Amino acid sequence: AKGGGRATFRFYTEALTIAANARVKLETQLRRGIEQQEFVLHFQPLISMAESRITGVEALVRWRSPAEGELVPPARFIPLAEETGLIVPLGDWVLRTACRQMMRWLKEDNRLTCMAVNLSSVQFRQPDVAERVESALEESGLPAHFLELEITESGLMEFGPEAEAKLDALKMLGVRLAIDDFGTGYSSLAYLRRFPIDKLKVDQSFVRDIPADSAAIEIAAAVVALGKTLHLEVLAEGVETKAQCDLLQRLGCNTAQGYLFDRPLSAIDLTDKWLR
Ligand code: C2E
Ligand code: CA
Ligand code: CA
Ligand code: CA
Repeated sequence: AKGGGRATFRFYTEALTIAANARVKLETQLRRGIEQQEFVLHFQPLISMAESRITGVEALVRWRSPAEGELVPPARFIPLAEETGLIVPLGDWVLRTACRQMMRWLKEDNRLTCMAVNLSSVQFRQPDVAERVESALEESGLPAHFLELEITESGLMEFGPEAEAKLDALKMLGVRLAIDDFGTGYSSLAYLRRFPIDKLKVDQSFVRDIPADSAAIEIAAAVVALGKTLHLEVLAEGVETKAQCDLLQRLGCNTAQGYLFDRPLSAIDLTDKWLR
């Protein structure tokens, strides 16, 4: 058993070394990727349920890494970008690129009223986050009310009581604020009422099991009702079926996003499919 313990120890050490090396390599590639502008934004339609039409898009980043040869999804690099702080320059690029694209769309089309951009809790914590957002708006000329910043509920909770002043400073710019992955972060009603929030994005996990699971319906109903009570716009994420869409609309959701309507698309494909 003793020898086995040593072998196990050696196995773990080797595994950890391999993992650490892979991390260092990915970090180097990520750093270079930011310098070389290897990232692209895709855009997923946000659909007004009442009118069944597109009203906005969410910008979602992908990495065109030469080492991978395909588009790398954000789940594979955002966590490391957050740990290393590289999310700050990457997030700046996302903000500036999304604002510029929205300006392009506004010039040819009046259907889009919202460009939603994810703001990592690491970006949110930067002392100059409001200045960074302001400079992306100024550089592109995009009027602030077209930009919506999505902050995850858990990211806000992590930040504690200072979150309120931070949100107030962002709100002062005139942008819209959304709570992302809502329902997963154990937030209290008291804080929701104080924060200058415009929209709740009900997490996919509440949408997935409806309409088959009656407990899931009850929970989704409660989350939507909470948003309505607070006079917030309520968007359902991850809507994949007509049945989900119909039920969520009956519960009072204003907006929906999901594969039922479309996947995230390149700017060109979104223009062709949705703005022609
Ligand atoms: P999120 O902000 O919750 O974005 C929604 C994710 O759900 C997207 O995955 C989208 O493609 C996916 N999705 C949309 N509709 C459906 C559906 O009907 N069913 C299912 N199963 N999934 C659906 P994606 O693009 O892989 O992004 C994953 C996460 O990565 C995002 O979750 C967000 O947390 C993060 N992320 C993406 N882009 C950025 C960014 O520019 N900055 C930051 N900080 N995070 C980002
Ligand atoms: Ca989001
Ligand atoms: Ca989400
Ligand atoms: Ca307040």
